[in-house]
Amino acid sequence: MTRIDHIGIAVQKLDPAVEFFRDRLGLQLKEVKELPDRGLKIAFFQVGEVLVELLAPLSEDSQIGKFLATRGEGIHHMALSTDDINGKMADLTAAGIRMATPTTSIGAEGFPIAFLHPKATHGVLLELIEKK
Ligand code: ZN
Repeated sequence: MTRIDHIGIAVQKLDPAVEFFRDRLGLQLKEVKELPDRGLKIAFFQVGEVLVELLAPLSEDSQIGKFLATRGEGIHHMALSTDDINGKMADLTAAGIRMATPTTSIGAEGFPIAFLHPKATHGVLLELIEKK
């Protein structure tokens, strides 16, 4: 693991959250996009080397919709970058650490991602992202 790539924050509605982070805090809005297959609308802010990712649900039965219903708004996950996601997943699995996603998929930024199971990570949903 080389660095924190991004921190994901679950929000009920994207627009007021974007206004707060951009207009009140002065963060640099990098991108807004809709991911209908994941029931998600997201906004990325560049904060130094780290991105802040706001995640808003497109529907209540999406993963983020369910998260908001049980936990409310707040930090949803932290993503750590690695240059070898498959090797890292193999090491973790060999050490008995559960993955929430057994295979990688392509994330919102277009890079391979996978999630560790929060029960294995002291309650934090950890994402691995491969950026070379
Ligand atoms: Zn993420």
